[in-house]
Amino acid sequence: MFLEVVGSDGSKQAGSNLVTMRLGRSVLIDTGSASSLTNTDQMDTELVLLTHAHLDHVLELGFLIDAIASQRGTPLRVMGSPACLAIVKTHYMNDLIWPDFSGISTVYGPALEYSELVDGEWMELAGGVDAMPVPVNHGAGGRGFLFRSDRGSVVYTGDTGPTEDIWKAAAGLDNLTAIVAEVSFPDRLRNVALASDHLSPGLLSDEMAKLGRDEVPIYAFHLKPWFRHEIERDLARSFGERTVLLFRGDRLEF
Ligand SMILES: [Zn+2]
Ligand SMILES: [Zn+2]
Repeated sequence: MFLEVVGSDGSKQAGSNLVTMRLGRSVLIDTGSASSLTNTDQMDTELVLLTHAHLDHVLELGFLIDAIASQRGTPLRVMGSPACLAIVKTHYMNDLIWPDFSGISTVYGPALEYSELVDGEWMELAGGVDAMPVPVNHGAGGRGFLFRSDRGSVVYTGDTGPTEDIWKAAAGLDNLTAIVAEVSFPDRLRNVALASDHLSPGLLSDEMAKLGRDEVPIYAFHLKPWFRHEIERDLARSFGERTVLLFRGDRLEF
């Protein structure tokens, strides 16, 4: 299995790409940059896993479904926590800001189908990977995920402030290959990170102490682009060479 970065930035400005990851050929995690995928890759998408409903993570869901609805023969499945899906339905795909594609009939039924994630339970996805959603400390119905294949496993925090459950769940994983962790702010803005339910390098260090798997590499994402250099310096101070910043095109195999 592979996790491929389509976008990894924690906000939008020239040259940045909001969070979207491909989990194998047919699953997307978040849709901040989904429209930057080729038409073929968009058409191959069967399932979108939403970590939460903040705009930087759902922004291009509307354009993704617009592009593929009339070209394909099956509904696009969109999964998120109950709170996340309620926000998307009420405030975005609501026939006001954008069409409600779950109410648009095609020859194969609705163009889009929502389904709710079940916390703490493994679900089997296409391509030989399982996913487990876990609540994290963030608004808009925030969830992180554990992923496992027959070769390894990955912890994916989504957006979160200091949290507990995902590290407890991750402690039971065999062959933990990678920790994909959000780091939004530099240590100088630790209080801003805490107030907005995000992490700084120092706060991530506290999270890693909860997990206690010091041998596993950390792949950092969701940096505010204008703080990238400062965050990178702070990460090096806390973790030495253990952390790598994720950029568009990077691919983790597990
Ligand atoms: Zn968020
Ligand atoms: Zn975000």
